Amino acid sequence: MAYDVVVIGSGPGGYVCAIKAAQLGLKVAVVEKRETFGGTCLNIGCIPSKALLHASEMFAEAGHSFDTLGVEIPAPKLNLGKMMAHKDTTVSANVGGIAFLFKKNKIDTFRGTGKVVAAGKVAVAGEDGKTQEIETKNIVIATGSDVAGIPGVEVDIDEKVIVSSTGALALDKVPQNLVVVGGGVIGLELGSVWARLGAKVTVVEFLDTILGGMDGEVAKQFQRMLGKQGFTFKLGSKVTGVTKAKKGASVTFEPVNPAKGSGDAETVEADVVLIATGRKPYTEGLGLKEAGVEMDERGRVKTDGHLRTNVPGIYAIGDVVAGPMLAHKAEDEGVAVAEIIAGQAGHVNYEVIPGVVYTSPEVASVGKTEEELKKAGIAYKSGKFPFTANGRARAMQHTDGFVKVLADKETDRVLGVHIVGFGAGEMIHEAAVLMEFGGSSEDLARTCHAHPTMSEAVKEAALATFAKPIHI
Ligand code: FAD
Repeated sequence: MAYDVVVIGSGPGGYVCAIKAAQLGLKVAVVEKRETFGGTCLNIGCIPSKALLHASEMFAEAGHSFDTLGVEIPAPKLNLGKMMAHKDTTVSANVGGIAFLFKKNKIDTFRGTGKVVAAGKVAVAGEDGKTQEIETKNIVIATGSDVAGIPGVEVDIDEKVIVSSTGALALDKVPQNLVVVGGGVIGLELGSVWARLGAKVTVVEFLDTILGGMDGEVAKQFQRMLGKQGFTFKLGSKVTGVTKAKKGASVTFEPVNPAKGSGDAETVEADVVLIATGRKPYTEGLGLKEAGVEMDERGRVKTDGHLRTNVPGIYAIGDVVAGPMLAHKAEDEGVAVAEIIAGQAGHVNYEVIPGVVYTSPEVASVGKTEEELKKAGIAYKSGKFPFTANGRARAMQHTDGFVKVLADKETDRVLGVHIVGFGAGEMIHEAAVLMEFGGSSEDLARTCHAHPTMSEAVKEAALATFAKPIHI
């Protein structure tokens, strides 16, 4: 039977695309080589990491914060096996949910490795060695990404001592010393999990800042907060070797800019080393070259503004194409492609894609950073409001951090909002909605916000771009 759409990969890009296409009346099939649906995000990414982040945060709070609230309990005891079971149950429920949604939407599923034979033809190689061919009017490549190594350094990731994020989500004991190579989102989130459970965490980062690409002021303040939580940072450091020892492993690094640093190479020992230097698009075995699909210089599938590849009838979405490697970006592209294939006007607004770091406190951002605005020569106003001046934050003992609103100097249109603080990942969405509608900081400041909420800090920061905030 010929399909309207065959989606290769069932991550947030692929499964959302398949469901949306089915909802629009198209005949859809999904090809997935993993045992369960949901891709990186549900199996070994967003969902298991958030399960462990939440559980470890509860552990840390029970240990540090309850007493001053008048809740006296004995020192909490870690049951790592139970914590991992919570993570596994969360993952199972989520991946099972996708299987249910596929059935509900009458989407056919093929288990095996998909290969693009040509436009209109996908071959699926099953584990039994048998290959079957599926005919389809359209193909959507949603094969995601895989762990990238350290450029120029050979690293033997065994997922026990030298681990990627996948191994770091499944350690069977808390390492005494954990070295994280890479101070990006994944490294800091997983570093936080193990730091809260008792590991001494050292982050080695090539750049002079953590969270490269985030607003500089936010990144700096956040680094100080992590420092207070016991993190050690080796910034501006280029890793030259990661070596397994009899017990644990060692990481050797040298200053990226010897004039700035001590100039000497340094080696740190660890029980576990987490390689968190980013991810690369995954196109192995897909046959794209043979099918004539163009790739860019970074190995990503090249697409136009409508997520079409250069071969008619073949589309690509998610981590395998350009743009931020985020689940919600992949999902929105999935919806857009389904709509485009169904003859509608699918579209993704890349200017308004929130980014969240699910640490404690959280960091969230949408739109332009100050550095980007300066570089683009855009005149802007900045308004800031600290959570120390927010009543709800005080009541909850979550006064760390601030909200920063950046608005166009001439038009007052909000160009970027950056939050570091408890619940930042939820608060950022009022800014995203405002920006989607082209709203101004005055619109934000004049919108009635419930009291007492952390979100009042967003309103006050908006107010601070053109007038005086009330509570400071
Ligand atoms: P994927 O989710 O990678 O799915 C691709 C699927 O395609 C996989 O299941 C793969 O098995 C399958 N596949 C590949 N090749 C073939 C083939 N030839 N045939 C059949 N199937 C194939 N993002 C967020 O937005 N928020 C977070 O909190 C977050 N946390 C993360 C934490 C970690 C530890 C990691 C690693 C990532 C995290 N991400 C997060 C990123 C997020 O997981 C990705 O951006 C997202 O999964 C990309 O979705 P995708 O559909 O493009 O690809």
